[in-house]
Amino acid sequence: MSDLRELYQEVILDHSKHPRNSRALPAANHHADGHNPLCGDRLKLYVQVDNGVISDIGFTGAGCAISTASASMMTEALKGKTIAEAEATFQRFHHMLTGAPDEQPPEEEVEALGKLGAFAGVREFPVRVKCATLAWHTLQAALKDQPAPASTE
Ligand code: ZN
Repeated sequence: MSDLRELYQEVILDHSKHPRNSRALPAANHHADGHNPLCGDRLKLYVQVDNGVISDIGFTGAGCAISTASASMMTEALKGKTIAEAEATFQRFHHMLTGAPDEQPPEEEVEALGKLGAFAGVREFPVRVKCATLAWHTLQAALKDQPAPASTE
């Protein structure tokens, strides 16, 4: 279990206990539901997009510490960003998490993600990768106005 401890870095713990932007935005012009059946994480994401910029973003739902922290940190990282910037951040984040589990992701890759780099250790735990990426998959569904809930499966 000592390896798991590395996962729960301070920043992740803080966001899981005190999630930011954890609120419904009923008037938001994009929203989607996300579900990670492997862990049972559920999330509803609300995104307000104005002129290609994410002007507001919030989420509700219930999940494990990793999924909650990831949703919280994603909303914090993306507020005020353009759709293109959000997409680029997702690609970088996804790439960091889905590399070979026994290799460390390149340092510059982690650094470019700022706070989101805290999830780098999650890639050693493939089951947890789905918890960490749920919010991002749900974001993609929301931006595409996908009617079906996003699933990590
Ligand atoms: Zn989870």
